[in-house]
Amino acid sequence: MKTAVSLQNLPSRIPNRRSRVRKPRRSRRSSVQLDRVVARLPSIVGGGSVLTDRAELVCYSYDASCYSRLPDVVVFPNSSEEISKIVRLANRERVPVTPRGAGTSLSGGPVPARGGIVVVLARMNRILDLDEDNLTVTCEVGLTLRDLNRSLARKLLHFPIDPGSSEAATLGGMIGENASGMHSPRFGKTKDRVLSLEVVLPNGDIIHVGSKCFKSASGYNLKELFIGSEGTLGIVTKATLRLSPLPDNYTVISASFKTTVAAGRAISRVVKRGLPVSALEFMDRPSIEVVKAFTGLPLPQAAAMVLIECTGPEGEVQNHLADAAEILREEGAFELRISSDRGEADRLWHARKVTYGAISRIRPTAIQADPVVPVSKLPDYLARLDLIAQKYALKIVSYGHAADGNLHPTVLIDEGNPEEMRYARMALAEIYQSALELGGTLTGEHGVGVEKSDYFNLEWPSNVVSVMREIKAVLDPNNIMNPRKWI
Ligand SMILES: Cc1cc2nc3c(=O)[nH]c(=O)nc-3n(C[C@H](O)[C@H](O)[C@H](O)COP(=O)(O)OP(=O)(O)OC[C@H]3O[C@@H](n4cnc5c(N)ncnc54)[C@H](O)[C@@H]3O)c2cc1C
Repeated sequence: MKTAVSLQNLPSRIPNRRSRVRKPRRSRRSSVQLDRVVARLPSIVGGGSVLTDRAELVCYSYDASCYSRLPDVVVFPNSSEEISKIVRLANRERVPVTPRGAGTSLSGGPVPARGGIVVVLARMNRILDLDEDNLTVTCEVGLTLRDLNRSLARKLLHFPIDPGSSEAATLGGMIGENASGMHSPRFGKTKDRVLSLEVVLPNGDIIHVGSKCFKSASGYNLKELFIGSEGTLGIVTKATLRLSPLPDNYTVISASFKTTVAAGRAISRVVKRGLPVSALEFMDRPSIEVVKAFTGLPLPQAAAMVLIECTGPEGEVQNHLADAAEILREEGAFELRISSDRGEADRLWHARKVTYGAISRIRPTAIQADPVVPVSKLPDYLARLDLIAQKYALKIVSYGHAADGNLHPTVLIDEGNPEEMRYARMALAEIYQSALELGGTLTGEHGVGVEKSDYFNLEWPSNVVSVMREIKAVLDPNNIMNPRKWI
């Protein structure tokens, strides 16, 4: 995460995307409409909840990606009703609105690409109802995952979606991106855990979609339309989530490989065997080395490491891990370590969780991709990533949620070096193109945002994009919600 922001150093990050990537400057929208909106906002949210000072706006101009753009005004509403009034006003005056959680997105999602109003949900962070009998919780979505889980831990419960950014990410941002994490093989993605939503539509109406029940076949699945829509269809204000008891027993096996391709083969065989793993992660040599230096943990000297977690009754866990170990050995694992206790397992997950932070320190700029391939194609894809790195003589570090076929090839460069930036662009295009050629998709969890919008048409034919545009036009005819992204 970038914390120290200097106006001089803020990006134009990727030169050939100047149309989307702007130096943070005040938007040219100096229109009467905008002035009217800015003048009215304090009467809706209170004077102390509106920022217009340039130095303060900078803090809301970027996320954890390479993109930035100054908003014209930032507001901190306290209720759904206030958000409804803000959006109604913005819609009337045709001023863009971009919802923002913690700003940890890696795709430029909360960057206000056309300026306008950034609506920060941080003050809407209350737990409204914990229903232990039904294992559900209803919250305002400015709540961070960490705070929710700290509170639930007292009841031995948790919301089990665990992105690497779990210390900071808000529930609204997770819903906006359909986030997932290391334990998705067991607990699924955000969409699998959201039962119902309250949403403020672009016309200001407040609607409720979904149901507190564990299943519903009643009408169109509008709830899932909003999940992963990256704030382009409305602002989610409340959510009812499905919880799980905290797992009481889990063991992690780590396996070292001499090639990434062998690790890829082992992963696809473990998945094919249908073993009930609760997590299955991959790290390549550069990520292992950097994390080792960053954490001091005794990680192996290997071209690739595979981490597998099983959870449940002790006997079952041991059986599943023995089956997994057999496959890992057959595919060439030269070292297998089984965590001796929960503390050791937690340290291994910590190592995996800090990977992005650790690799970001290697070079000035880290551009992280998020492709997914069918898991049987992982060996092919890993081989292609090696070739792409060689072809452009770039440092590309790869790790990710291997059970889903979701990798994070991260191109490490110096954005001040135009030559490197040119090669990085070409490498990223090949990273995405290769995933699509193997039957994959552009993004598993970070969303399209600004970062992948150039590739969107490679994945979706024009008749599919048209359907998406028509849905957007019905809900947001004036295109005020998070405009100038992929839609
Ligand atoms: C170190 C690091 C590790 C990460 N690891 C993972 C990972 O393992 N898995 C993963 O999925 N992601 C990961 N991410 C990406 C990011 O943290 C997630 O996408 C997270 O869900 C974003 O939450 P946020 O509160 O920061 O949202 P923001 O970044 O503020 O917003 C994300 C998007 O959601 C929209 N949005 C925000 N709030 C609302 C709302 N109330 N209503 C409608 N739209 C809204 C925004 O407009 C934007 O498009 C990681 C990021 C970092 C920096």
